[in-house]
Amino acid sequence: MEFDAVFIGAGHNALAAGVHLATKGWSVGIFECNETPGGAIRTEEVTLPGFRHDLYATNLGLFAGSAFHADYGETLAKRGLAFAPAEHCFATPTPSGRWFGVSKDLEQTVARAAALSEADAARWRTMLAEFGGDAPHLFALLGSPMSARALARVGWKAWRDKGTAWMLDTARLLTASPRAFLQENFESEEIRATMAAWGMHLDFSPDIGGGALFPYLESMADQSFGMVIGQGGADTMINAMVAELEAQGGTVRTNAAVAKIEASGGRASGIVLADGTRVSAKKAVIAGVMPAALVDSLLDGGTGNARYDRGARAFRHGPGTMMVHLATSGLPDWAANEDLKRFLYVHLAPDLDSMARTYTDAMAGLLPAEPLLVVGQQTAVDPSRAPEGQHTLWIQVRTLPATIRGDAAGLITATDWSEAGEAYADRVVDIIERYAPSTKAKILARHIETPADLERRNPNLVGGDSAGGSHHISQHFLFRPVPGWARHKTPVKDLYLIGAATWPGGGAGAGSGYMLARALAGG
Ligand SMILES: Cc1cc2nc3c(=O)[nH]c(=O)nc-3n(C[C@H](O)[C@H](O)[C@H](O)COP(=O)(O)OP(=O)(O)OC[C@H]3O[C@@H](n4cnc5c(N)ncnc54)[C@H](O)[C@@H]3O)c2cc1C
Repeated sequence: MEFDAVFIGAGHNALAAGVHLATKGWSVGIFECNETPGGAIRTEEVTLPGFRHDLYATNLGLFAGSAFHADYGETLAKRGLAFAPAEHCFATPTPSGRWFGVSKDLEQTVARAAALSEADAARWRTMLAEFGGDAPHLFALLGSPMSARALARVGWKAWRDKGTAWMLDTARLLTASPRAFLQENFESEEIRATMAAWGMHLDFSPDIGGGALFPYLESMADQSFGMVIGQGGADTMINAMVAELEAQGGTVRTNAAVAKIEASGGRASGIVLADGTRVSAKKAVIAGVMPAALVDSLLDGGTGNARYDRGARAFRHGPGTMMVHLATSGLPDWAANEDLKRFLYVHLAPDLDSMARTYTDAMAGLLPAEPLLVVGQQTAVDPSRAPEGQHTLWIQVRTLPATIRGDAAGLITATDWSEAGEAYADRVVDIIERYAPSTKAKILARHIETPADLERRNPNLVGGDSAGGSHHISQHFLFRPVPGWARHKTPVKDLYLIGAATWPGGGAGAGSGYMLARALAGG
């Protein structure tokens, strides 16, 4: 077997790159160890027949707003890609019964803010107005190839358009912790908590520098555009990409684990599958794996560049995640307000201090007493995912230790996820019950995936790290995945690394795959 480009892993970055290269006339072969393509974007009936659960990623806003979608959206729509838009995006109730939520309709959001603080309501409006001017430059930065020259170009353009004061303010935003940014801008604890929860989707607890950017961007982008999920399931985007790739002559082989990369004379010439099959690559081997797996498992003796190999082995993963999927007879009856039923995401984390404690506990190996829960109510937006009148709940539990050393609540004694998982899922359901009494009685079936299960089902989710490696500043931008290697090349000629561990990082935005494919195809 021989292809121009041979891919290791069928994550969405590989599929996006494959679609572009195939469209440009390259022959493309993608080899995936799992039984289905898509990696961390996968939809299955894991509880009961007729209940379609997004097992991992569900919020497809990054994909809908991506450069890849801008260029291929129409083509993919013809192959079945469809989104379900959410008007009511995300909300946080607190145990006191107060709450804040962001709806696409600005007046609804502002009215909720005003009920908490008139000053915050005014600040929300001005922040949104400023976002209109900030967004083109911030998205240019996040969508730019990561080289000093490209950064200088983006910076120069921003400075010419916006001036020195804006550059300084933006540098502060890029380096601020969520707490510093939120305390400076809002006085309501509820608004601060609602926004800070987005930092915890990555590995930014409230006090980590560099963590303010994502809460700011997600909040303002959702206010401006709303959120989207896949119509019928997140796999709509995977199915459409695979169909387009195959229509362009590309091949996706599943149940095909890659065991080795063949590199002779300093050049990657192909791969060897676990069953011994050799596949030659005429132009490129493109790995969508974690950096340590690249140098330690796939290459015999690393890349030959000691600095790169050391950096790849030192690549840090963030804390783990657990998924709890519920099939239910009804949406939770949120005590704070009935309106919460209409929101796509309900975050349960009452304040910044509890998030900080949870993160510190997880990093110290403790099961947090009060983890942050992201309760996804997909069927409030897309009822097609469950039988009529019934619902799915998607609960992402942030943040958890990969290896358990104890329980911050002192109740769970097991230190192995295979034993602790169900007990911890009970804690999760108990927390929801506190905010929405009688939710337990509505549960028809439950499926859990612990951090260990996540890694077993996708080797890229190391220790259950859902974001593909820490996004702290010291491992992001020019430093991702290894300082000096942020443009998806490796020291081995014709061997490239893409995926969440590489610039621009985790999420369903197809950024690394499309950036590399355009570089290889010359546009
Ligand atoms: C629980 C969870 C919730 C998330 N929620 C969201 C969300 O709502 N929105 C969002 O934007 N992002 C979300 N993310 C993050 C996002 O899903 C990922 O960052 C993104 O999908 C990663 O894509 P990727 O292309 O890097 O590769 P992956 O999706 O990690 O896929 C890599 C593929 O490579 C395969 N592979 C690895 N090694 C080999 C090998 N040796 N041989 C063959 N195949 C191999 C794996 O099996 C896998 O299929 C979430 C992630 C998780 C885990």
